[in-house]
Amino acid sequence: MSAVRTTCPYCGVGCGIAAMPEGERAVRIAGDQAHPANRGRLCSKGTHLGETVGLGGRLLHPQVRGRNVRWDRALDLVARTFARTIAEHGPDSVAFYVSGQLLTEDYYVANKLMKGFIGSANIDTNSRLCMSSAVAAHVRAFGEDVVPTCYDDIDEAELILLVGSNTAWCHPIVWQRIEAAREKRGARLVVIDPRRTETAERADLRLAIRPGSDIALFNGLLAEMMRLGVADADFLERHVEVPEGFWAQVSAEGSLDRVSQTCDLSVSQLCSLFALFAAHPKTVTLFSQGANQSVQGTDNGNAIINLHLATGRIGRPGMGPFSITGQPNAMGGREVGGLATSLAAHMGFSPEEIDRVRRFWSAPSMPASPGLKAVDMFEAMHSGRIRALWVMATNPAVSMPDAGRVREALARCPFVVTSDVMADTDTGRFAHVRLPALAWGEKDGTVTNSERLISRQRPIFAPPGEAKPDWWIVSEVGRRMGFHEAFDYRSPAAIFSEHARLTAFENDGGRKLDLRDWVGRDYDGMEPHRWGGDRPFADLSFPTPSRRARLVAVAQRPLEAGGDFPIILNSGRYRDQWHTMTRTGLSPRLSQHRREPLIEMHPADAEEWGIADGDIAAVETARGRTLFRAALHEGQRRGETFVPIHWTDVTAGGGRTGLLPPAAVDPVSGQPGFKATRARISRVDPAWRGFLVTRDETPAPSCLWWARVRVAGGWLYELAGTGDALAETANLIAAGQRAEAIDAHRGSTRIAVLDGEGRVRCALYASRSGDLPPRDWIIAQLQAAEPSTPIALLAGRPAVPPPDRGPIVCACFDLGMKTILSAIARQRLTSVQAVGAAIGAGTNCGSCRPALARLLEPAEENRHVAG
Ligand code: SF4
Repeated sequence: MSAVRTTCPYCGVGCGIAAMPEGERAVRIAGDQAHPANRGRLCSKGTHLGETVGLGGRLLHPQVRGRNVRWDRALDLVARTFARTIAEHGPDSVAFYVSGQLLTEDYYVANKLMKGFIGSANIDTNSRLCMSSAVAAHVRAFGEDVVPTCYDDIDEAELILLVGSNTAWCHPIVWQRIEAAREKRGARLVVIDPRRTETAERADLRLAIRPGSDIALFNGLLAEMMRLGVADADFLERHVEVPEGFWAQVSAEGSLDRVSQTCDLSVSQLCSLFALFAAHPKTVTLFSQGANQSVQGTDNGNAIINLHLATGRIGRPGMGPFSITGQPNAMGGREVGGLATSLAAHMGFSPEEIDRVRRFWSAPSMPASPGLKAVDMFEAMHSGRIRALWVMATNPAVSMPDAGRVREALARCPFVVTSDVMADTDTGRFAHVRLPALAWGEKDGTVTNSERLISRQRPIFAPPGEAKPDWWIVSEVGRRMGFHEAFDYRSPAAIFSEHARLTAFENDGGRKLDLRDWVGRDYDGMEPHRWGGDRPFADLSFPTPSRRARLVAVAQRPLEAGGDFPIILNSGRYRDQWHTMTRTGLSPRLSQHRREPLIEMHPADAEEWGIADGDIAAVETARGRTLFRAALHEGQRRGETFVPIHWTDVTAGGGRTGLLPPAAVDPVSGQPGFKATRARISRVDPAWRGFLVTRDETPAPSCLWWARVRVAGGWLYELAGTGDALAETANLIAAGQRAEAIDAHRGSTRIAVLDGEGRVRCALYASRSGDLPPRDWIIAQLQAAEPSTPIALLAGRPAVPPPDRGPIVCACFDLGMKTILSAIARQRLTSVQAVGAAIGAGTNCGSCRPALARLLEPAEENRHVAG
């Protein structure tokens, strides 16, 4: 059997995968050598996809109020309730909240049903939270949401600016291309990020900017380029509209000293940036969530684009502003109108465009204006204006800002439908109807990556249980609502073809998105193809009425003062996890990198706040409170902290990042400003701390704090409680032959439960002092060939203890920090390549190479958070 050529379901890099099925639900994963996005490479998440394709935890049957029902009954109920709500309260009383995880064909059908047949524009996507500011910036500058660059430009750049992007963790294959450009061609790298991430550590110039001051920096840079004559007067004259007062606005940020003060960067750092930018015309500026997830996100995007337009650094190889997307199909959603603010095929809400789409679809009912953006949509639900909601492939109860209020809105909504692959999600707990959708490896359709490359996701497995494609589910509801002909789709190929025809419909070149060449082409055999060519603005014609791009005047807003909440809370991703861990959380290897949600803080701050490494810390904002384990890290700026976005009510009794930010949004894009929430932090003193290793999934612990991850053969729960450890963990301990060592005086509890063959079923270790044995050996006992003795189990170590590996750095080869450091010291290794040659680390997916580089630095640098 030959490999199935498909696409990774995680980030917007959009890597091609060659998947070799092995049995009914197993697959061997390799990078697709022929795919232009990755040329055979995969990061740790893509590499370990094979560990995530099991059916554990899947939703496999339609459910109404928690009971399995036939598809007909569930679909009739959804169609009937939506139709009745629309009849009684109007089309704007219903909404769809969809996802960058959907395939383009799913997105297309959902958008068509809402905008053409229900007659409302109340469909928005979780991409609103991710990159809608970049979309708005593109539209303001270019007239259309067009990414002007492609990955090949990274390969050709002389200077790469990374703005608000931990590329090494969040877009690892793009990072590998950046590293290759530096190694092969000497490209210079500037990282603009408040945090000293693994990406920032590799930079030639690292600018740890004050959060929220990007516009001051970019206006300062632009003003300096104007002064030095680096701005391209001829390009501006011929291809760019410059609004009245633009240059006055740019220079309003003031002197170098003032920019330095606003951004908290030294004048010499600024001069270094200016000199690098002036000296290297081939500049690519990649920007991501750090720029987008801001209450000035759209202005941030335009400040970056202004710089490229004013210097003519766009439309030619090796240069341009480049928004890199978080999700696998954020771009596909943008192309078919998944955002409430666009119609379909990159059309907006002008009367001509509405009429064009109406005629193409033969639509009975079109909205006259944009719909509600995500935050406004849930607010409308809270106030009772939205009375029926369908959530597809996303988890807003976790991921929306002010998630506590979003949960209230979901609880108040009279009718909530979810389409999902997982049986238990935080949002699904509010649903009246739950519909089983296909997961990666079962789906069939297309996705578009950050560089406009459309690739196929192809099925590897047969659909499990009664799960169905999202496009089928939406079409069935559309037909049941009376729109038989418009939703009579038989295949994703037919949907893609219709989408391609709409992009070409009455398109005389005014819209760059034009897939006319793909109408009716061989869908099954489709090779990856980039719409708009390599550089859609190579002809220097922009899709505005004047055919010129537009500079947009943007001004730095004053930064918010702290008041009762003096600390700035930043949030983001871990290297080896994705979103709410529904897939990556199934992989024991990926879970090794970070086993619990940590709040990272500067050691000097921690000392001031009375918090030690490993303490439990309460984080409180004006909107909510949740607990994290503290991790000290000198890479944090003073007064600023960082937390991950991945843990949910299903996986933790704390670490709930979404509860913390207010629903403050960018006024243009509606994207929430997740990156600079005002917070205060205090130490929490639990009566005991501990962990549980178990073969069985248990009920949710009821103690003060807990977090759960997959390990080989079972689960690891990190725990902390306020009362008696034994009583607070009683519901977690399996029945069976039991060995105990309980020392009430010293506050230590150790319990091991064995099966009939003397093997560990579960083991609990708790102590008042927090002294606990290392986890790895105990976890390994879940699958050990030989049972260990009860004495060793209660001791938490064998008679001859194994070497302590330290936290895992290389997930592919299971190598911990201490193992690697010892190899570096013993074998006098001085480069990442040498470490790879000696012990294999970093030679498979390469995701840990930045961490290895860090371990090669002097020991002083490696005291805190590793990996
Ligand atoms: Fe998947 Fe990693 Fe490629 Fe992103 S970089 S698409 S997560 S393999």
